[in-house]
Amino acid sequence: MKILIIEDNSQNRYLETFLLEKRGHQVVQAATGPEGIQMASRVQPELILLDIQLPVMDGYAVAHALRQNPVLRAVPIVAVTSYAMVGDRERVMAAGCTGYIEKPINPDTFVSEIEQYLNARQPGGGDPS
Ligand code: MN
Repeated sequence: MKILIIEDNSQNRYLETFLLEKRGHQVVQAATGPEGIQMASRVQPELILLDIQLPVMDGYAVAHALRQNPVLRAVPIVAVTSYAMVGDRERVMAAGCTGYIEKPINPDTFVSEIEQYLNARQPGGGDPS
């Protein structure tokens, strides 16, 4: 599957890309929100992995912007964040994300966690489950 990683930390980008490619996924990377938004409409990924803590334009704003694009409206967006605060999940979902995983990522379960979102459908996609 074609997966876009939007993440400003190069070590995290490297690790996530390594783990996903090892399992046969194709990975495209962006280091900033604006770059990620541009790239998303160009490459039309099947899933977007979105860091929340990004400079200039944070992940909430990026998710919101991605959902404005009709072509990307149904693409699963999985937030990756180190914030472990009450209310964070709600904020992530309200911004348009499909799901949420916490940093530091667990290399043993990371890809399986991501793969469960690959078939996730968005509100309006017809399947509420
Ligand atoms: Mn970050």
